[in-house]
Amino acid sequence: MTVADEIETLNTQIRGCQRCALAEKRTLAVPGEGPLDAEVMFIGEAPGVNEDRQGRPFVGQAGAFLEELLAAAGLSRSEVFIGNVLKCRPPGNRDPLPTEIEACDDYLSAQIRLLDPLLIVTLGRFSMSRFFPNQAISRIHGEPREANGRILVPMYHPAAALHQQRLRDTILDDFRTLPGLLERARAARTSSAPAPPEQAPTKQMRLFD
Ligand code: URA
Repeated sequence: MTVADEIETLNTQIRGCQRCALAEKRTLAVPGEGPLDAEVMFIGEAPGVNEDRQGRPFVGQAGAFLEELLAAAGLSRSEVFIGNVLKCRPPGNRDPLPTEIEACDDYLSAQIRLLDPLLIVTLGRFSMSRFFPNQAISRIHGEPREANGRILVPMYHPAAALHQQRLRDTILDDFRTLPGLLERARAARTSSAPAPPEQAPTKQMRLFD
């Protein structure tokens, strides 16, 4: 099976997923989108009302701001992968529950394994926690770490930064570091062996200790 076939199969599984109670209330699941050769993967929190209606990630106000941020980094939406920790909308946009995150995690792991991005940008604290457990986003935002042959960098969620000038400036500054990080990730990948398979962190395992 080609990677394209595997992604298609995965997306079909996600769209029909019944692993948690969010399946009952969703209109559409949101697997995420982007080209198979995307070098950068952005991981948000969960679909909101607009995403749930359209089945696409970041299509509301936060999405418009994300596109502005991408432009500041010299990137366009069509060249990156955009996904979420949860593939279905939590009712009333409440925070994701640990059980929901766990139920959905295999999908994110499979996306990382199949797309094998050079750079992963986590957006917001739930996405950050998957890779950087027990950390505060106010302390580690914009700080890149290398793991599994790629660079990961946590950032604030665009929706959180949208209406606060101070965070807006901070997230813009963080996005402006992406071209340099991408160059670094490209250089590291060409000078080393292929990335080992993606491993989801377990409760006992801290990736960056
Ligand atoms: N916020 C997210 O985290 N993800 C989306 O897809 C939309 C808004």
